Amino acid sequence: MTDQLDALLALQTADDGLQALETRLAALAPRLATLDAERQAAEKAAAGARQALERESERHTHLSERAGEFRRMNDRAVSQLDQVRKAHHASAAGAQVDISRRALADAEAELHASGVRLASLQTALEGAEQRIGAMESEQAPAREAVESERSEIERELGDARTARAALARHVETRLLARYDRVRSRRRGPAVFPLHHFTCGNCDTAIPTQRRAGMTAGNIEVCESCGVLLYAAPAPATAGHAG
Ligand SMILES: [Zn+2]
Repeated sequence: MTDQLDALLALQTADDGLQALETRLAALAPRLATLDAERQAAEKAAAGARQALERESERHTHLSERAGEFRRMNDRAVSQLDQVRKAHHASAAGAQVDISRRALADAEAELHASGVRLASLQTALEGAEQRIGAMESEQAPAREAVESERSEIERELGDARTARAALARHVETRLLARYDRVRSRRRGPAVFPLHHFTCGNCDTAIPTQRRAGMTAGNIEVCESCGVLLYAAPAPATAGHAG
């Protein structure tokens, strides 16, 4: 049984190492997530700027058409006024010219304001797109660092899994199955030494009738927390069970 215990403890050491590597690998995810979130925020800002520009651009086209209509209306009113200058319709035609001239002036002022907004939205979009480009180059070293750490950890994990598989072959099938079950349930160490005949994990005392077997090298399951227990190899005076 001591051979089995040694094999099991070696396996546990290998599994602890594997778990540490997996923890390191998992720790890379939040670093990438932070970088991704920064980039997404910059992309969202650019998309917002692009939408605002498109909306204002449509509005500008519409305002431009409207100003064109008022210009033609004003031209018609002016030519009408020329034709009726001497007739008694002159004052009505003059009023029409005033109305269409004011409408045209308003439309042109609105069109001008829209043109100014369009220019500043264009500048904002260019700024947002430049920030995306700048962020890509700012983030590049951090992303490369994460990638190189990931490939290093994955290489180590590959080696560690091969070594683990070799060690597992030295553990008897039923004991290995029991160990694997406890290990996966606890996501941590599964084998503990006894401390004065209490469980090294939960401190529950081992029933008297099982102590002798454990002192002789049996691996037992803790009735309370379910971990595998072994008596640390005793000095020459062992066998004082009960
Ligand atoms: Zn226990």
